[in-house]
Amino acid sequence: MQDFWWPHFFLALIIAAVAVVIGLFFGWTVALLGIILVLLYYIYRNLRGMAALAVWLAAGGIGDLPEAQGTWDEIFYGLDRMARRNKRSAGRLVSALDRFEHAAQAIPDGVIMLNEQGQIDWLNSVASVHFGLDERADCGQFIAYLIRQSVFRDYLEGHDFREPLMMKSPSQRDVTLSVQMVRFGAQQKMLISRDITQIEKVEAMRRDFVANVSHELRTPLTVVGGFLENFIDMDALPREDFLRYCGLMVQQTDRMRRLVEDLLVLSRLESTQNRLIESRVDMADLMQSLYQDALSLSAGRHPIEMVSESEDQIIGNVDELASALGNLVSNAVRYTPSGKSIRLHWGWREGMLCFGVKDEGEGIAPHHIPRLTERFYRVDRGRSRETGGTGLGLAIVKHVLTRHHAKLLIESEIGRGSCFSACFTADRVVKQKPG
Ligand code: ADP
Repeated sequence: MQDFWWPHFFLALIIAAVAVVIGLFFGWTVALLGIILVLLYYIYRNLRGMAALAVWLAAGGIGDLPEAQGTWDEIFYGLDRMARRNKRSAGRLVSALDRFEHAAQAIPDGVIMLNEQGQIDWLNSVASVHFGLDERADCGQFIAYLIRQSVFRDYLEGHDFREPLMMKSPSQRDVTLSVQMVRFGAQQKMLISRDITQIEKVEAMRRDFVANVSHELRTPLTVVGGFLENFIDMDALPREDFLRYCGLMVQQTDRMRRLVEDLLVLSRLESTQNRLIESRVDMADLMQSLYQDALSLSAGRHPIEMVSESEDQIIGNVDELASALGNLVSNAVRYTPSGKSIRLHWGWREGMLCFGVKDEGEGIAPHHIPRLTERFYRVDRGRSRETGGTGLGLAIVKHVLTRHHAKLLIESEIGRGSCFSACFTADRVVKQKPG
C-alpha cells in the first residue's frame, strides 16, 4: 500500500502537463474545460466506488466483492481480506466459547455466573436442577429474588465467601447442597453448588454408629463397674453372692467381647486392603459343620434337619462364608422357640445356588425386613440381648455376601417363621459331574 499514492501523483502530473500543452496550443479556456471534465470523471468514479462500498457494508461485508476499477478495486480487495480474517477469528472465538459452554455444562457441579449486580448471566443444567431455575427464562434475574431461603440471603449479604454454605435444595426437599460463591474478573461472581446428600447420609450413619457402639458398651460396663463398687463397699460378702456376681460379670464381659469381635470382623470386611482370597469351598463339609453347630447351639431344643439337593460347589472364601452362614444358623436357633423345627438346605433356586435356613419361629413383620441388615437394628432388643446377640450378625452376613456377589433373601411371615437364604450366581458355581 506504500505504492498507493505515487501512481495517482504521477497521473496528476501528466494531466497538469497535458493541460499546459493544451493551454499553450488551444488556449487556457480549453485547458481549464479539459481539467474540469477530467475532475468530474474522477469524482464520478469515486462516488460510484463509495456507493458500492456502502451497499457492500450494508450487506454485512459478506457475499460477492463489488466490481470496481483502479484504487477502489484495491480497497475492496483489502477490505475483503480483512473481513475474511475477522470471520476466521470470530469463528475461532465462537468455537472456543462453545467448548467452554460444553465443558461448563459437563461439570457435575452446578455453576451460575453472576454479574456485578447479582443478576444471572448464565447457568448450567445441574444448577437449574439444584435450584429449580429455568436456564433461559431466569437469565437476567436477580439471584436473591429467585433463591429466597433466609440462610442463602444471609450468605449473600455477609460477603464472606471463604466457607461453603450447607442448605436444602429449594426444589428438592431431600437434597442437601453445599454452595460456594467465587469471585472472579472485575466484579463478577460464580455460584458453585454440589449435591452432598450422600456424603451427609454417610456422615449421619457414622455418627449413629459411634453412638450405638458407645451405648452398647456402656450398659455392660455399668453393670461390671457396679459390682466392683459393691465389692469395695462390702467388707464380708458371702461366697455364694460373690460367685453369683462374678458369674454376672463374666456374662457382661462376654457380651463386650462378642461386640468387639463383631466390630473387628466388620472393620476387616470393610478394609479395602482386605482382598477376598478365594478357593473351591467344599459345601458338603461346610453343611456338615453348620449342622453340627446348630445341634450344639440348640442343645436338643429343636428338631433340626439338613437337606442337600445339589453336589455343586462354589468359589469363595471358606472362613468368611462359614462365619456368615453360621450367623444365619445361630439366628434361627436363637429366635425359634423350643420344639419348633429348623431346616438347613443347599440347592438350586431360580438360577442361583442357595444356602437356606428355614425356621418355625415367630416370624418378622414386613416393615422390619429391609432394615434387618443395618448395624444394631433389632426387632426385639430384649430378645436379642437375652440370647447373646450383638445386633451386627446380619450386617456381617450382608458384607460377606456382597464380597461374593451373592444375595441375601429374607422371607418371613408372622406366626409361621422365617427363611434366610444366601444365593450365589451361576458364575461362582463349580458343577459336579454326575456319577
Ligand atoms: P442379633 O445379634 O440381634 O441377632 P442380627 O443382625 O443377627 O442381630 O439380626 C438382626 C435382627 O433380626 C435380630 O435382632 C432379630 O430381631 C432379627 N432376626 C434375625 N434372624 C431372625 C430369625 N431367624 N427369626 C426372627 N428374627 C430374626
